[in-house]
Amino acid sequence: MNKNSSNIMALAPNTPNKRETVCIFGTGDFGRALGHKIIQAGYPVVFGSRSTQTSSLIPKDAEVLSHAEAAQKAAIIIIAIQRQHYNFLTPLAEILHGKVLVDVSNNLKINQYPESNAEYLAQLVPGAKVVKAFNTVSAWALQSGTLDASRQVFVCGDDMGAKQMVMDIVRALGLTPLDQGSLLAAQEIENYPLQLFPMWKFPILLSLGLTAFFFFYCLTRDVIYPYVYENKDFSFFIVISIPNRICPILALILLALVYFPGVLAAIIQLYRGTKYLRFPDWLDKWMLCRKQLGLVALAFASLHVLYTLVIPIRFFVRWRISSQIISQALNNKTEPLNTTNAWLSDSYLALGILGFFLFVLLGITSLPSVSNNVNWREFRFVQSKLGYLTLILCTAHTLVYGGKRFLSPLSYRWYLPNAYMLSLIVPCIVLVVKFVLVFPCLDKPLTRIRQGWERNPQYSE
Ligand code: NAP
Repeated sequence: MNKNSSNIMALAPNTPNKRETVCIFGTGDFGRALGHKIIQAGYPVVFGSRSTQTSSLIPKDAEVLSHAEAAQKAAIIIIAIQRQHYNFLTPLAEILHGKVLVDVSNNLKINQYPESNAEYLAQLVPGAKVVKAFNTVSAWALQSGTLDASRQVFVCGDDMGAKQMVMDIVRALGLTPLDQGSLLAAQEIENYPLQLFPMWKFPILLSLGLTAFFFFYCLTRDVIYPYVYENKDFSFFIVISIPNRICPILALILLALVYFPGVLAAIIQLYRGTKYLRFPDWLDKWMLCRKQLGLVALAFASLHVLYTLVIPIRFFVRWRISSQIISQALNNKTEPLNTTNAWLSDSYLALGILGFFLFVLLGITSLPSVSNNVNWREFRFVQSKLGYLTLILCTAHTLVYGGKRFLSPLSYRWYLPNAYMLSLIVPCIVLVVKFVLVFPCLDKPLTRIRQGWERNPQYSE
């Protein structure tokens, strides 16, 4: 009882005037950087170290004591030490009884140990209240003050009071605590800094694969074919013409792939007659990276815009226009204005401009700073309704660009259709299926299923 009473006092919420002492075990990079920040936030800090000699690197307002002495001065102890050295805590178990131990450690590999470092710490010091926090913040960011990218601090632990105390410190440092629940969440929090763009892997690999495929496809059609049959060297197409074909193709396909899983999910739910059966894993994963797919698509669309802007200043384009004019002058024959072509050209440009404008709008609303300021209905309206409108406009832009060339045998080389024709397959499938799903005979049951209705209820009374 006596042993714990001081800790119960210390667990009371901190008032702005009186901050409780914070103890940090370990005077390494992270301990020092965190200590410095905590002192700036107005907390007295005491370091527990193997050596009580202070150095110029240690914040000057902090005391450096032995582990046992430092632990006695505070109710909260941040363990800024690697997991493999935690054994030294076992002899201190009695002093640490009832204290809040904050585990900040990270590992070198995902799921490196069977249990998380925080759970291991809780096993070593069973009388302590272990909280996992701060592991996603780097010593460098703490020191340099560049915490903008990582303001969120995941916190988890089994003791609510202890967690609250740690979250108070996190807030005092100007960071945002995110309560992740019990200590069971520690493994996931420890794995988090080791993940390498988890949601971006599929979109990036897919776009790399598609880029490689369409590059060789266009190379065959637009460079190798004229060289073989007409002995013309169009190898310079590799620099601007081919990238300017690939970028819109990728933008359109990836945009369609953002909406594809939605229509697949609708078909699956209609077929099963329930929303309570899990989707296959691949579909779940696909749905989770839709935002990233959309952003990669937007990047390709933006590149397409840039490449298109330089078309008039290209040497090849200027040469072609001037040779057409010269040949008309030599033949003393001017070509009359073809209004159909003028209409087609203006229409496809107008559709492209509108499509790109909405595409940018979609990208902007997916930014957390914007999406946090709209409600769920507004977000859905932009991402779903405007998203489909963008897909329709971009598909129409490509269809009108193709114009009369679709059926012309001249546009097939070695039986290969123009690359933009291939880019229309996925968007057309998505739009046609979506159009069919809008019919009331399918839309009504789907809406009911999404509201919880089941065709064959699993748990009937
Ligand atoms: P570090 O620079 O190597 O410092 C670790 C400290 O642990 C040493 O300075 C030492 O302090 C103490 N120590 C070393 N061996 C010990 C032993 N056998 N027994 C007792 N204490 C021992 O490491 P760090 O970069 O500060 O990282 C510390 C912890 O923070 C790690 O668990 C790491 O995963 C975590 N973390 C680090 C960062 C970062 O950016 N560096 C970010 C997030 C989390 P004394 O000499 O004072 O005893």
